[in-house]
Amino acid sequence: MGPGVDRVPSSARFPASAEVVVIGGGIIGVATALSLVEQGIRTVLLEKGTVAAEQSSRNWGWCRRTGRDLRELPLINLSMQLWEGMNERVQRETGFRRCGILYAARSEKQRDLHQRWVNEARQYGIHSEMLSPAQLLQHLPQLKGDYPGGMFTPLDGRAEPQKAAPAMARAAMALGLNLQQHCAVRTIERSAGQVSEVITEHGAIRCQQVVVAGGAWSRLLLQGLGVSLPQLKVLSSVLRTRPIDFDPGACVSFGSVAMRKRLDGGLTVATSAISTADITPDSLRFSAQFMPAFWHERKAIKLRAGKRFLEEALYWKPGQADKRSIYEVLRVLEPTIDAGMIPLIRDRISALIPSLAPLPVAQSWGGMIDSLPDAIPVISAVDPVPGLFLATGFSGHGFGIAPGAGQLMADLVLNRAPSVDAHPFRFSRFTDGEKIRAQFWL
Ligand SMILES: Cc1cc2nc3c(=O)[nH]c(=O)nc-3n(C[C@H](O)[C@H](O)[C@H](O)COP(=O)(O)OP(=O)(O)OC[C@H]3O[C@@H](n4cnc5c(N)ncnc54)[C@H](O)[C@@H]3O)c2cc1C
Repeated sequence: MGPGVDRVPSSARFPASAEVVVIGGGIIGVATALSLVEQGIRTVLLEKGTVAAEQSSRNWGWCRRTGRDLRELPLINLSMQLWEGMNERVQRETGFRRCGILYAARSEKQRDLHQRWVNEARQYGIHSEMLSPAQLLQHLPQLKGDYPGGMFTPLDGRAEPQKAAPAMARAAMALGLNLQQHCAVRTIERSAGQVSEVITEHGAIRCQQVVVAGGAWSRLLLQGLGVSLPQLKVLSSVLRTRPIDFDPGACVSFGSVAMRKRLDGGLTVATSAISTADITPDSLRFSAQFMPAFWHERKAIKLRAGKRFLEEALYWKPGQADKRSIYEVLRVLEPTIDAGMIPLIRDRISALIPSLAPLPVAQSWGGMIDSLPDAIPVISAVDPVPGLFLATGFSGHGFGIAPGAGQLMADLVLNRAPSVDAHPFRFSRFTDGEKIRAQFWL
């Protein structure tokens, strides 16, 4: 079971048409829909399960500039400005707090890499600091272990994943958004090549513009239109504690584990050191494109062969307008947690901060992260299909960047000047000869 997410009621009336249909009620779809309705655009948001039930409620909640791919820095700067005013904008609690983010360096080599990132980030107006071992201990006096220093961004922050997208969705509804949950999109239809209709399990909605923000499902939705998106998934495990009398101040990564204080008084704790990648037909299909990133991260990715291969080979097929689809069978992607991870996270955090042992674990869950070969998203028109837009592939850091991503997506749909340069996020980069490469700074 995933974490408890604030519920949002669906709209009463099923719409026959819309100016824009957004597919996917994760934080990216919600942020896009919010930006659209704020401009008075008649928007429908379709979600096969419930708002934020997949990645967008299962993540750590870090709103992070620290260590990001340089291509994302203008967009995350915009997002941090938007987070700052988000509670006021949506008139609800999203949990956003500017608490700072701190990465302890595991080695001298890593500290040097952090230093290089700090130097690069300055030209984007980001003032992160390098910490000496003594300064690191001032932040975390209880820390045991040898760290040659750290990297700290005081103006980074956190928000509550179980609250943020629901709060934003409610605000969008107050401005006229039509939200349909338990409403899976089976297919996107075209007329003379142009998007013309979205077929859901409850009927058709006429529209000329569709934004696919389907998280881990985006690839399949595009496949239904004959468009290939190189997208894979990795499983990451998280736990939360009961409310406890300990606050690390900033969100902190120690290399092997990471934690932050929650609004409910507990901690969210996870490992950044290991993710599990099930071998699926897509892993084979896209192996060449993902190989450089996989090779770099090979110590952090545990490959697992098992029943997912057969499940995806047999059942993960694009939908058909008149048949029950996989999107209705799997309302919520609820990956089984990697059983070894929870004791590992618990033991590591207890070794680093002995006063936390025994860690009062209240709940644990798994989340499926969707990723693209260069680990930055697509926020773009999909050129082969007029009227089709895509916002997906946020690769483990889409929560913090969502407000800006939603605004940028809305800019592109409305054909107005983009808030930041959208070129790095174009869909066509996978086919126009650009060298596809991820950046690793952490
Ligand atoms: C364990 C974990 C930790 C993370 N930590 C962080 C972090 O600290 N900071 C950060 O910035 N990011 C983090 N991330 C990444 C972040 O959570 C994601 O990048 C972000 O939530 C992606 O949002 P999304 O809206 O694209 O996808 P999702 O939240 O997955 O939403 C996609 C939605 O589309 C719906 N959908 C799909 N197909 C259909 C269909 N056919 N019809 C209708 N609906 C459909 C799905 O049901 C789903 O609700 C983490 C992720 C995980 C899993």
